Amino acid sequence: TIILAIETSCDETAAALIRNGSEIVSNVVASQIESQKRFGGVVPEIASRHHVEQITIVIEEALEKANMQPSDISAVAVTEGPGLVGALLIGINAAKAFAFVHNLPIIGVHHIAGHIYANALVQPMEFPLLALVVSGGHTELVLMREHGSFEVVGETRDDAAGEAYDKVARVLNMPYPGGPHIDRLAHEAEESVDFPRAWLDESYDFSFSGLKSAVINYKHNMDQRGEEIVPAHVAKGFQDSVVEVLTTKTLKAAREFNVKQVIAAGGVSANKGLRTSLEQVFLEEGIPFTVPPLKLCTDNAAMIGAAAAYMYEAGVRGDLSMNGVPGKELKSWK
Ligand code: ATP
Ligand code: MG
Ligand code: FE
Repeated sequence: TIILAIETSCDETAAALIRNGSEIVSNVVASQIESQKRFGGVVPEIASRHHVEQITIVIEEALEKANMQPSDISAVAVTEGPGLVGALLIGINAAKAFAFVHNLPIIGVHHIAGHIYANALVQPMEFPLLALVVSGGHTELVLMREHGSFEVVGETRDDAAGEAYDKVARVLNMPYPGGPHIDRLAHEAEESVDFPRAWLDESYDFSFSGLKSAVINYKHNMDQRGEEIVPAHVAKGFQDSVVEVLTTKTLKAAREFNVKQVIAAGGVSANKGLRTSLEQVFLEEGIPFTVPPLKLCTDNAAMIGAAAAYMYEAGVRGDLSMNGVPGKELKSWK
């Protein structure tokens, strides 16, 4: 099977062609980071306008790079939600038009299922599987007992990990998106500021707003005293706290649910500190750990195509009444 996948949930306009759910034939991402930087974050109206300008170009480029015709395609997949409604609709309408003109089935994919299935492009998934999803809008531990089955065993009670990264980066005067900058700074530091860890007792839930406030208060207090903060020390202190909590809870859940594989997914799984920590812990634990290559961690359409390939095999189909669902829940398709 060949899936044409489209992703426009946030600020990247992306299209990809995926063969048999495991092989990337082409993967095109047009990022808006340069224009969103000026505003220190994503402005929905601007994101939508960019998607309109880019969507046709990106789909054509994906076909061209793959050297494929519409007649080679088995189904069109598109992100249905969650995301910005105006942004989602550009991708959905493009997918509908393509599917209608070429008489192809259409499949609506959950964005987070996509992030998780980025791992299927690296290595076959082994069940039961535990996914740590850490992105701009989500921080979740998801248990999968088979393909298409999702149980959220823990989630953030306030900010997502990526959101905390972006806000702390702003406090440190670094450009949007802040994650990669904090990651780099943290690795340059030899010392760190001590920040709290939110354990929330035995729960698998997460909380990052207290940590974010602790960073803001630290900067404020230093300013009041007329002292200079060392951004690298703050970055390292913040990252150490995030990584320790994420790693510890993921390990605990992996043990409790006796999983055969642990994967990380979402933009924050591009984090060097987090990747290293999880790799080390699960190597010691003897549980296989997978994380996608960097360009498959942040938003892309290849991951949407990978999830859609398994949905296609399971007989899941959408239709032309599909709509963008900004707060879409992660539901099992099995
Ligand atoms: P969601 O997937 O929850 O809908 P999103 O699509 O906006 O949200 P992603 O594109 O998956 O989020 O991830 C973007 C986030 O990842 C940003 O918050 C960014 O700062 C963060 N990020 C990217 N690279 C790194 C890194 N190396 N370290 C930490 N965070 C990072
Ligand atoms: Mg993004
Ligand atoms: Fe995402």
